[in-house]
Amino acid sequence: MAKPKILVVGGGPGGATAGRTLAAGGADVLILEKSFGRPKPCGGAIPPLVINEFGIPPEIIDCRMKYTTIYSPTGRETDVTVVGTKPTDKDFIGMVRREVYDNYLREQASKAGAEVIEAKLLSIKITPDGVKAVYEEKGVEKKIEAAAVIGADGAYSMVAKAVGAPRVPQCVAMQYRIRLPESQMQEWRETAELYLGDEVSPDFYGWVFPKHDHLSVGVGVSPDHSTKVRTYLNNLVERTGNKLKDGKIYATEAHALPMRHQKKLAWDRAMLIGDAAGMVVSTSGEGIYWAMKSGKIAAETLLKFQENPIAANLNEYEKIWKKQYGTMYRFLDRLQGIYFGDNRKFEVFTQMCRDEDVQRLTFDSYLHKEMAKLPVTSGLRIFGKMAFNFARWYVPALRPKPRPTLALEG
Ligand SMILES: Cc1cc2nc3c(=O)[nH]c(=O)nc-3n(C[C@H](O)[C@H](O)[C@H](O)COP(=O)(O)OP(=O)(O)OC[C@H]3O[C@@H](n4cnc5c(N)ncnc54)[C@H](O)[C@@H]3O)c2cc1C
Repeated sequence: MAKPKILVVGGGPGGATAGRTLAAGGADVLILEKSFGRPKPCGGAIPPLVINEFGIPPEIIDCRMKYTTIYSPTGRETDVTVVGTKPTDKDFIGMVRREVYDNYLREQASKAGAEVIEAKLLSIKITPDGVKAVYEEKGVEKKIEAAAVIGADGAYSMVAKAVGAPRVPQCVAMQYRIRLPESQMQEWRETAELYLGDEVSPDFYGWVFPKHDHLSVGVGVSPDHSTKVRTYLNNLVERTGNKLKDGKIYATEAHALPMRHQKKLAWDRAMLIGDAAGMVVSTSGEGIYWAMKSGKIAAETLLKFQENPIAANLNEYEKIWKKQYGTMYRFLDRLQGIYFGDNRKFEVFTQMCRDEDVQRLTFDSYLHKEMAKLPVTSGLRIFGKMAFNFARWYVPALRPKPRPTLALEG
């Protein structure tokens, strides 16, 4: 008997991982990716966990970033070394170029037996009886019928629309690719910078990330400020001072960044993963790992139920996801409310990042995706420090005096 066909829409990190997992498990998979050549706009920072868990070879990683400097709105600096509670040789943040990374992941899916084609989904109908889709490949319209579909088609997902999922709030992120002379690029190999302040982003942050042959320099802003995103990005370049003055901007890229999870992840014959399901962490904008992880769990669930992919069965994916990561997402959403949103909060955040326990906890959760337990005394100390710093920035009489390096006007 012929195997039921599974359709994966989108060949980014989520779709390629789902397709690879399905094919490796013996399913008949077709992955549609609308463009093999056009990279997804992305800072490309990944935790080492991705490398270990998904077997990413070293040559795919451009740089191993070990140090970062955070700049507060008033120019106060906090230097942070990337290290968790138990230091290991895997304490770094990997930097990838999405054109290299996504191609590698699609190759792996193809090697596992998935059919991966450059084709754009034009329409899709999902009913309890089956999935019918129309796509365009090399200018020719084609039809396909499938037993189930995984929507891995990112922030503007057509599959999410087809199942009736609500639109989640989205940030806009824009970045320049800037090439510096080689001698200056060398200085950035292990270093990144984060800039906070309402002239670079009222609600998120600005970044400078090193890549093989360029720097990714970008900002993310909420929908309320999206029309000014290029101004914020130019302010960021200005705030870096002389560091980028010999650089050449050779590409400008922008894309939506979902800020909230879809509550429902599975329907009859359909599941959403990665950005299509809004799985970006709101504090950091991190979404690559979560797209791959959700792709893997969704695919494993579908393998189990491919003969009967009804919502009641596919819901297992949603249950596993919420059990493993629901608390973490809720915690990070709250953290974003506490530390992001105005310049005084950003000052407190920069100050708190000087605390070693805060640094270690942050990196445990980022590098290893673990929420480490903190001794009660450390918890109390951090809480006390936080209260002190909030008082310092919110009570006018206690506010630190302005420093000579003032922030730009918003
Ligand atoms: C500027 C910016 C910086 C970021 N920086 C980071 C970072 O440093 N680290 C991090 O972890 N995350 C970062 N993110 C988030 C990260 O890019 C996403 O979370 C991640 O790419 C999600 O993967 P995905 O596979 O779900 O979706 P995507 O990577 O968006 O992949 C979706 C794929 O579907 C394809 N597609 C869409 N529609 C169709 C269609 N109709 N037919 C066929 N194919 C289709 C697209 O071409 C695309 O390849 C950043 C995002 C932005 C915008």
